[in-house]
Amino acid sequence: MDAENYVKKVLEDVKKRNPGEAEFHNAVDEVLHSLIPVLEKRPELIKASILERIVEPERMVYFRIPWMDDAGKIHVNRGYRIQFNGALGPYKGGIRFHPTVNNSIIKFLGFEQLFKNALTGLPMGGGKGGCDFDPKGKSDAEIMRFCQSFMAELYKYLGPDVDVPAGDIGVGAREVGYMYGMYRKIVTASSQGVLTGKPLAFGGSLGRTQATGYGLLYFTNEMLKDKGTTFEGKIVSVSGSGNVAIYAIEKAQQFGAKVVTCSDSGGYVYDEEGIDLAVVKQLKITEARRIKDYLQYRPNAKYVEGSMKVWEVKCDVALPCATQNELDLASAEILIQNGVKFVAEGANMPTTLDAIAAFQKAGVYFGPAKAANAGGVSCSGLEMTQNAMRLSWTAEEVDEKLQVIMKNIFAAAKSTAKEIGDNDNLLAGANIAGFLKVADAMVKQGVI
Ligand code: NDP
Repeated sequence: MDAENYVKKVLEDVKKRNPGEAEFHNAVDEVLHSLIPVLEKRPELIKASILERIVEPERMVYFRIPWMDDAGKIHVNRGYRIQFNGALGPYKGGIRFHPTVNNSIIKFLGFEQLFKNALTGLPMGGGKGGCDFDPKGKSDAEIMRFCQSFMAELYKYLGPDVDVPAGDIGVGAREVGYMYGMYRKIVTASSQGVLTGKPLAFGGSLGRTQATGYGLLYFTNEMLKDKGTTFEGKIVSVSGSGNVAIYAIEKAQQFGAKVVTCSDSGGYVYDEEGIDLAVVKQLKITEARRIKDYLQYRPNAKYVEGSMKVWEVKCDVALPCATQNELDLASAEILIQNGVKFVAEGANMPTTLDAIAAFQKAGVYFGPAKAANAGGVSCSGLEMTQNAMRLSWTAEEVDEKLQVIMKNIFAAAKSTAKEIGDNDNLLAGANIAGFLKVADAMVKQGVI
């Protein structure tokens, strides 16, 4: 069977075997289509049924999480962990607490994670987890009880050499700390390497909080350099106001750009003079408030209801840093009309497939999530190394290593894109470079 028909058939099978899982279908569709040129050159991979094997998770568990709120009422949520592929090392990937979490979301995130981790060059397989729990409005005590109940089941599947979760949407150092406490109590061992994104006092890495946002900017900076320009004086539009967005804004400002937007699920703020990051940090990190309150501190800024409208703002560089499918075709067309030159993904799968195609057609340089936002998991890999060596690197040492990793990821995606004769297609370049690392390891490990 030729490569194109092979990809078509595997995709059809994925849709049949995973009905109704649109996010997972999209993630697989995006990766598999870009692999056609490499499968044409390497027919032995088709013979090894590599795609059928790579789209099927090694295992996935889901479980009941009962917990009691402050009023004594009992709630039940559903938890998930997917161990997608361990060919390159322990399963590695964050945990998301958000009401939209379901089978499809966890599978798409785990599948993407596999290739992203491969691109970092660190020995990590792909995993992901989460729960349909909504942390918004919950007290600290409720969050703690919830995290403890979550870990009371999840611990069975974890270990520093087995599966190492981290944070994601709704899960930061506080939640990781509560989960680690419960893990340590159950297994009666310190095992700091079982979770990353930990607080600094017990094995966390300096620089982990900033790593995804900073890494995104290091990657995007390589894209700009590749086109002979810099961030100096560029207008940047960022969506989201969570962990990734905040540190993306911080590094963009350090690079001399003017960031004019940020958002949350309610809407976006536009600040023509440049976002005041101290205000955003106070609202989002310290006080857990809504982004529209930004106007109380910066009355000249503008607030617009509807988070997806953020892309109507004119900018040179767009950095979607909120959530999946937040930048659709209509938004892409507005960005293109307004002259955007660079788009790089801080969130996972924020740009829909048709929007990506529109950017590529219009000559907008596009940096895909699995390469551009790999800074977080890279730093998590560095945290695992520090835990195994029982030492801590300085923030400068971690940041230096992060910069090297992000430059290497860009170089790998770019050189692979050139090899297939599609110079600026970093999406195909990243997919192929990540895929080949995993596929070659799987083939060498036999049919397992
Ligand atoms: P946070 O929970 O810190 O922030 C998420 C942000 O996105 C918030 O501003 C949130 O607003 C907004 N948001 C959530 N859902 C929606 C929605 N449906 N529409 C519009 N905005 C929304 O998460 P992170 O910053 O950690 O993660 C953001 C993205 O980056 C995710 O896709 C995540 O998977 C990805 N990522 C994160 C990494 C990390 O290290 N943290 C690593 C790699 C990828 P609100 O408060 O209103 O919900």
